[in-house]
Amino acid sequence: MSVLLTTHDPRTGLPAVSYPCATPEQVVQICRRARDAFFNQWRAVPSTERATALLSVAALLRDRLEEFAAAEARDTGKPLDVARGEVAGAAGLWEYAAALARTEHSECLSTATTQGLALTLREPMGVVGLIVPWNYPLITAAERMPFALAAGCCVVLKPSELAVGSLALLVEAMANNPLFPTGVVQVLFGQGDAVGRALVANPDVDMIAFVGSTATGRAIESAATATGKRVSAELGGNNHVLIYPDADLPRAARAVVAGGFRNGGQACIAGTHVLVDPSVADEWAAHLEQALRERFPVGEAGTVASIQPMISAAHKQRLLALIEQARPAGFVPLPGSLLDGPGNFLGPVVLDRVPLHSPLRQQEIFGPVVTVTRVEADKFPAILADNQYGLAVYVWTAATSAALAAIRQVRIGRIWVNADPEFWLPELPVGGFAASGVGREGGAKALDTYSLPKSVLIF
Ligand code: NAD
Repeated sequence: MSVLLTTHDPRTGLPAVSYPCATPEQVVQICRRARDAFFNQWRAVPSTERATALLSVAALLRDRLEEFAAAEARDTGKPLDVARGEVAGAAGLWEYAAALARTEHSECLSTATTQGLALTLREPMGVVGLIVPWNYPLITAAERMPFALAAGCCVVLKPSELAVGSLALLVEAMANNPLFPTGVVQVLFGQGDAVGRALVANPDVDMIAFVGSTATGRAIESAATATGKRVSAELGGNNHVLIYPDADLPRAARAVVAGGFRNGGQACIAGTHVLVDPSVADEWAAHLEQALRERFPVGEAGTVASIQPMISAAHKQRLLALIEQARPAGFVPLPGSLLDGPGNFLGPVVLDRVPLHSPLRQQEIFGPVVTVTRVEADKFPAILADNQYGLAVYVWTAATSAALAAIRQVRIGRIWVNADPEFWLPELPVGGFAASGVGREGGAKALDTYSLPKSVLIF
């Protein structure tokens, strides 16, 4: 019998949606159905038809944007207008994947041999188990699911147990869409350590595409590769913002507030740790304080103009404990910081004069806390090289040579130079280095993640 799980509205803490958790037998049935759909249906559907099917999902997201945005906002605590933007962003990813479906070509080496032909054919990976987190359910799924489908794979989606609403709507609509044969897209609801684990272990699954924390991702990688599966994993980040002495300080300050506190700071690419050259550190602090007050004018947690709430009480408690643990090492809260709030609310918090070795800097904070460390610009590269994560970095300088040096040196997947941290393009691949993951998603070669070449010699 299935257990009922309940999500909670982060704004109120009240129960939001209840849904049945998949049983071990259902995991087996669903994965088997996906395998049948792959071999007997979707694999043989021409890519032009797959493209049409993907476009119909993009149209669905645009037509029912309000409904999807409301579900996303209720589960995650995002403001509605932010959720609307994410639904539109997700639709853009489905459209881009549809375009890619029609451009995939295999290779023919017509001159490698004087007789016959040497060529490659792309073979879809098979059944993809897609496991996503709670902070950006629709977007993280849209960065993967349409590309897997475009390549000819079938998908079994496992949303986070904390945020199911928008993805439940999506899969339900796709199940009723005749362009997707039964079993091509299915969903499994439930806890990660039960349902997610069973999906990773299931022998009918060929590949795991995962987005989530580094600890979970590493455990999944070992379990999946031990059963011969391919893995693509985008994991946590602990990202820096570099403020060189010649940076446009007011612009950079507004960007740090926008990027550091996006999604209440619960974003893998949040620019959390500012490194600022001491020659401009006081001026920088004044600009940052002003930007903070402009963005959060009410200065009261839990109000309409405030930062979005933390996903759960437990997550907020973790953040409060982290701040307390860092207190002995030292920091100075910038005026306008709110070190607590009602219910699940907390922040924004900007901590200035955070020492390099503060515990706050050693792990992914994943909350509305931005740290500022005053350190000479020539030490920035070594500090970044010391970071076990490699997901995102934000560089602010007027000097092309400094920007180029930073870009060339870092082993980091996504780099913004004097750029709006909230802007990104589906045309650019995403993924991390080191503790931030393996593989790449999106971009012009996105379908390569979900297919493999077969090499053929014909004489
Ligand atoms: P999480 O790792 O706890 O959970 C992610 C997903 O994995 C959930 O669906 C969960 O149910 C499932 N899961 C948990 N244990 C599992 C197991 N043993 N086997 C299979 N599945 C399991 O992460 P979270 O708390 O949901 O999300 C926050 C984390 O996600 C942060 O670390 C953040 O940086 C990361 N994240 C990364 C990106 C990115 O693109 N790099 C994007 C968003 C979030």
